[in-house]
Amino acid sequence: MNHVMLINVYRKYGLRIIKGYMQYVWDDKGNKYLDCHTNYGAAFLGHCNPRIVKPIVEQLNKLMMLPYSIDNDARDGVLKDLSKILPKKLSHVFFQSTGTEAVEAALKFSRKATKRRKIVAFENAFHGRTMGSLSVTWKPKYRKPYQPLIPEVVFAKFNDVKEVDKVVDDKTAAVIVEPIQGEGGINVASKEFLKALRERTFETNTLLIFDEVQCGFGRTGKVWAFQHYSIEPDILTAGKAIGGGYPVSFVATCSEVAESLEIGDHGTTYGGNPVACTAVSAAINVLLGENVPERAATKGNLLSKRLSELIEDMGFNFKIKGLGLMLGVDFGRNPEEEAIRLKNYGVLAVRAGESVLRFLPPYMISRDDIEHVITALRKLLAGKV
Ligand code: PLP
Repeated sequence: MNHVMLINVYRKYGLRIIKGYMQYVWDDKGNKYLDCHTNYGAAFLGHCNPRIVKPIVEQLNKLMMLPYSIDNDARDGVLKDLSKILPKKLSHVFFQSTGTEAVEAALKFSRKATKRRKIVAFENAFHGRTMGSLSVTWKPKYRKPYQPLIPEVVFAKFNDVKEVDKVVDDKTAAVIVEPIQGEGGINVASKEFLKALRERTFETNTLLIFDEVQCGFGRTGKVWAFQHYSIEPDILTAGKAIGGGYPVSFVATCSEVAESLEIGDHGTTYGGNPVACTAVSAAINVLLGENVPERAATKGNLLSKRLSELIEDMGFNFKIKGLGLMLGVDFGRNPEEEAIRLKNYGVLAVRAGESVLRFLPPYMISRDDIEHVITALRKLLAGKV
């Protein structure tokens, strides 16, 4: 018989997880782990959160699939719910299933709306792995094997205000930026940088895309990371946490961009299916009903403080980076081994960029859990001075 195997593009943790509940997962040997990996942040509302699972199961038993062209209550409902958390300006949305698809749509919509081609992206950016989003993803290792990618993409230095006026011009369709870079190493954009981007994009009639697939939906202490900056984008991409663990993403934009699109300009089979819409509605109920952003801010401050104290106490000069519950410890060298070995002490975490050990816990992480992270990291680092 043929032996089918997975294509090997992920480094394995050597774990077999059999169940999850809120901030914890359990392996096949009965060991419990605090999950600060959360599938790159997607399980921010916890594993199998009953307030997410129940409405999804009810919807699964009612209606799973419908094309975009046929109306249904789940889709009407999610539009109402999104109006509670999106700025007035972002009045139109399009649902898909993954973050990369939301970015593809953002890029396509920008070109259509502006009739321009050039896109500005940034060093250390990560926007996805399909051909369009890969074209604006920085890491040469990810891009090189698949070149040529889409032309007229220019990379500029992240957080370099001086480059902004030079690189964004009246030929630029869009600037795409993560307010907090996730995969690139938990790099927080400075206020001056995003302000300069906003001013220059207004000046040149360029669209500003904020990719909040990883940093959005409460994780940084605000519903959207851009709210820390009092700056609004023209296009927002969101994914990961927005479905409470169910695969769903959206791109949101202003009426000018939306109105530039005509029937047939874009499409999706699974995007915006009734189950996905129900998942997003349920996730918004949790986000607002449980004060998720505030809790992420409080717990994030505590985790950040305890990480700093630990690092200082142990005599390392590692830097703590991030905002809310999107945190990283910068080792100044590759922390891949540590990211995987931390599981031996009951915590799952994940590498970011070339030198950062990243913690993306669910919002309900407790004070005891935070102490568990500190104890685990202390043990890990004590073995490797
Ligand atoms: N954009 C950002 C900022 C991301 O962090 C990611 C994934 O990590 C993506 C886009 C791509 O999302 P997906 O893996 O769901 O396609």
